[in-house]
Amino acid sequence: MLDALAASGQASRFPVDVADIALRVSAQFGWTDPIVGVKAAPITSFEGGLFTVDGGWVLLYNDQIQSDGRIRFTQAHELGHYLLHRTLRNSFSCTDKDMVEWGPGGKQLEQEADEFASTLLMPINHFRALVNDSKIDFEMLGKCADLFGVSLTAAALRWVSFTNESAVLVLSRDGYIDWSVSSDKARKNGAFFRTRGNVIELPAGSLAADSTTASNKHGMAVGTSVWFEHADGRAVLREMKIGCDNYGYSLSLLHLSSGDKVWPAWETR
Ligand SMILES: [Zn+2]
Repeated sequence: MLDALAASGQASRFPVDVADIALRVSAQFGWTDPIVGVKAAPITSFEGGLFTVDGGWVLLYNDQIQSDGRIRFTQAHELGHYLLHRTLRNSFSCTDKDMVEWGPGGKQLEQEADEFASTLLMPINHFRALVNDSKIDFEMLGKCADLFGVSLTAAALRWVSFTNESAVLVLSRDGYIDWSVSSDKARKNGAFFRTRGNVIELPAGSLAADSTTASNKHGMAVGTSVWFEHADGRAVLREMKIGCDNYGYSLSLLHLSSGDKVWPAWETR
């Protein structure tokens, strides 16, 4: 429907106006418990929430501690709870753990709300058209993030989720991997990190571990075996880095050659 509206010239396609959709979506489906308000609420302990009120629901978002992109994602995440989960609970309070630090191991309802939000804000067909044949790097992903009105982290996660290329996104803090997400191709080639229950230090020799370089959007060549010890010694990957000082973490993107398998010998498949 948003594509059709944009094609008819009635609305610009991006960024998606989540509050407008939230207020009107129940009428589309003929539901009797609409979202009656979308309001800022400066409660420091949460990024967003969805609560029952007289006559329906109210969608709250924190506008004090979040960028515009994160506010938009928060609103879309709460809209996801409304559409998917409102018959399961009377209230949803979501923190930045649910919103920004998503990745493997999250709670199911939170993962579903995140999946809904990224699908609504960054449709894959539009995203694919933007990056078509371009060499991916943080500058390109930054342009996509600006167009979609989301954070760079959200845009990078979305790209990793659909790309056919071999890529690993790593969020690190204080020299350790916080979480990482691999594309399908990277996972099949053994390029992933088991962060759950494991403490994984950033490898020496990686751009991520180099404290003298805060950011390198276009990336540099790093031996694949620096990150993945079982990789062929001749293989090279492209590593990019963005330091997010405001939030105290760094985001790294590892772009491997599609044919490079990094499984230990006994795990080769
Ligand atoms: Zn949530």
